[in-house]
Amino acid sequence: MTGPVRTCVGCRRRALNDELVRLVVAHGELVVDERRRLPGRGAWLHRDPACLVKAERKRAFPRALRVPGPLDTSAVRAALERLATEE
Ligand SMILES: [Zn+2]
Repeated sequence: MTGPVRTCVGCRRRALNDELVRLVVAHGELVVDERRRLPGRGAWLHRDPACLVKAERKRAFPRALRVPGPLDTSAVRAALERLATEE
């Protein structure tokens, strides 16, 4: 592997940046940082709804992003579905 490597918060596998999306909390909501430029902590996830489900089950997002409560992942799910149809 070459290039920056991150760990997916869903399956905990390491992957190249390009295979993952960066997620951040903006205005209390979990969103996909498509340009990877938003400030603050980011969590990395495969472009795979299965990894989103795994991360939700493990409550990985609040832990990775250091926020207290559960996060609404509906915007992320919609974004992953949109990315999947674009490829
Ligand atoms: Zn994954």
